[in-house]
Formats: sequence, C-alpha cells, structure tokens
Amino acid sequence: MNILVTGGAGFIGSNFVRLMLNKYPDYKIVNYDKLTYAGNLENLKDVEENPNYVFEKGDICDAQMVREMLKKHQIQVIVNFAAETHVDRSIHDPAIFTHTNVYGTQTLLDAARQNGIERYIQISTDEVYGSLGETGFFTEKTHLSPNSPYAASKGGADLLVKAYYETYGLNVNITRCSNNYGCYHFPEKLIPLMITNALDNLPLPVYGDGSNVRDWLHVSDHVSAIDSVLHHGKPGEIYNIGGQNERTNLSIVEMIVGKLNKPKSLIKFVKDRVGHDRRYAIDPAKIERELGWAPKYTFEQGLEETIKWYVENESWWRRIKSGAYLEYYVKQYGEA
Ligand code: NAD
Repeated sequence: MNILVTGGAGFIGSNFVRLMLNKYPDYKIVNYDKLTYAGNLENLKDVEENPNYVFEKGDICDAQMVREMLKKHQIQVIVNFAAETHVDRSIHDPAIFTHTNVYGTQTLLDAARQNGIERYIQISTDEVYGSLGETGFFTEKTHLSPNSPYAASKGGADLLVKAYYETYGLNVNITRCSNNYGCYHFPEKLIPLMITNALDNLPLPVYGDGSNVRDWLHVSDHVSAIDSVLHHGKPGEIYNIGGQNERTNLSIVEMIVGKLNKPKSLIKFVKDRVGHDRRYAIDPAKIERELGWAPKYTFEQGLEETIKWYVENESWWRRIKSGAYLEYYVKQYGEA
C-alpha cells in the first residue's frame, strides 16, 4: 500500500509514520508536510534512511503539488494529520486555522476523488463536540458544537469529508480522538510544557483553577486505533478514540511535579483561556466493539514513560524551545 501521510512531521503524524514503517515493511510511506513551526523532521530521524520512507515538503492547500504527489508516488490512501493545532494560537490568529484545516482538507478531498484514491482518513478531534457538563460522554452521534476557532475549523473539515462521502462516494473515515500525550509532543502543549518547565524549575502556568477536565490517551494507542480504522474501518464511518481516562489539568500537573520531585510551589494559576471548554470525555465503545481496538497504556505508566523520554531527550526539546530545530531542516534540505 502507498500512503500519503500529511502532517507526518508533527507529533501524532510522526508516531503514525513510525508505526506504519515498522509494522508493514511492504508499505511505502510518503510524509507530505509544510514544516510549519510544529513540523520537525528530527521526530523521524530514526527512520529517514528507511527505503520505504519518503519526505516531500509541501502544503496541503497547494492543489497542484498534492496532485503531483499522488501521481508521482502512486498513492492509494491519504491519512490527513496536517493542521494548525494549538487552541491558544487559534484565538490569536483564526484565519490560518480556517485556511489550513478547512481549505487544506478540501484540497486533499478534491485531489483524492479526481485521482482515484481508495481511502481517505481524516484525523479529527473530540473538540468538535464542544464542552460537556459534569456527566455524559461524546459519542459519534453527538452534535458538533465547537467553541474555539481551532475546533470550529476541524468541525468544518469533518463536514466536508462527510459531504464528499455522500456526494461523490469517496471512501472516507473520520477519527475523533481525545487529548494525546507521549514522545515528540511539541512543548507548547500542557504535558510537555509542564515537564520541560519543571525540569528547569520554571513556573508551571495552569489556566483558571485547573479544574478543566480532559480525557488523555497515549499517542501509541491513538496511532494503533488509526491503524485499525485504516485496515478495518467501514466506508463513511466516524470512530471516536479515547482511553476513558479523565483528569483535571491540575491533577496532571501535580502528578508531573510529584514524579519529578519538584516543589508544588512551581504551580502558578494564570488567567483562564477565553471560552475554555470545561470537560471532554469520549465514549470509545464503537471502535472497541466494531474494530476490536483497545488502549494498551494506563495513564500512570504512559506518563512515567513520557517523563522519562523528555528527561532522556533533552536536546530534542531544548532545540525546539530555542528555535534551533529549524537549522536541522536547512542542513538536511537546503533552504527552510
Ligand atoms: P502538530 O501541530 O504536532 O503537527 C501538525 C503537522 O502538520 C506539522 O508537522 C505541520 O508542519 C503540518 N502542517 C501544518 N499545516 C500544514 C499544511 N498547510 N500543509 C502540510 N502540512 C502542514 O499536530 P498533532 O498534535 O500531531 O495533531 C495531528 C492531527 O491530529 C491534527 O489534525 C489534530 O487536529 C489531530 N488531533 C490532535 C490531538 C492532540 O491531542 N494533539 C488530539 C486529537 C486530534
């Protein structure tokens, strides 16, 4: 199988590329990535010599280049991870989110239907469902009610994917996963930010009173779920992915502080994010029942491994925090 993985240089995409190359030695994996600030080829340094791996620098909004990629690499499947992903950035500058996440998805969908692509998988998020109260879970039937510009752009993309299934019969799936954590997570997101700040004895900024609840899943469990959808998903279906692991932000920061033996006084409560969703919680019953997927990590074990990874890979995150990681690309591929 020849797969175009868009956004493969990011956090989840790079973990997916690695899984595919290791698990399916006869697949060709083309990583198509624009290398925004969040894309980092160092995430895939260990596989760059693999003969089944190709990196192509490009934008999912560039219709001509996407078409060229599909033809050049005889692509059969597209898995779209490429997106602007940081909620805080979407609050400051929503336009790029609409452009990349909505228009970029449409560009891929058009290229897919015009070039006989056999499967298209859209990697979406539970944030498209909006916020929950104290009880209840998001199922695949929950209405979309996104609150942030990021979530709205992902929801818009999902609606287009569904429309291309209904209108053109494109063989699509949408996956909606809860919050991920694990190795190669860009240190602007909660868990890696707290780990790396704590290692440097820097303040640990927690929004509001820290009581917002997220449902956390290890990235390895997320990419194994996408593998299941890729091979066994039914056409047109949506699959929610989650580990039934709800935690308040504060409890996570306290766990990190505890595991690193740092003082709790590092925790600093800061002004809450505007429109901050209270609670997300995924009901993963459908993917468990229909595709036999189940997460392998407990949160305790996953967080410990993740902390260990950040401790052992200090140069990786220090280079990101200092911006020096961009030099790697220039060194490898010429201009940035
Ligand atoms: P990330 O920000 O780490 O990576 C995004 C990647 O997309 C980067 O490599 C970036 O260079 C690339 N990209 C951005 N714009 C592009 C464009 N126009 N053309 C080509 N490439 C482009 O993101 P992530 O956390 O790995 O998330 C991947 C996907 O999973 C996203 O679609 C996100 O919405 C979804 N998701 C993320 C989470 C999470 O917890 N991180 C949870 C559920 C779903």
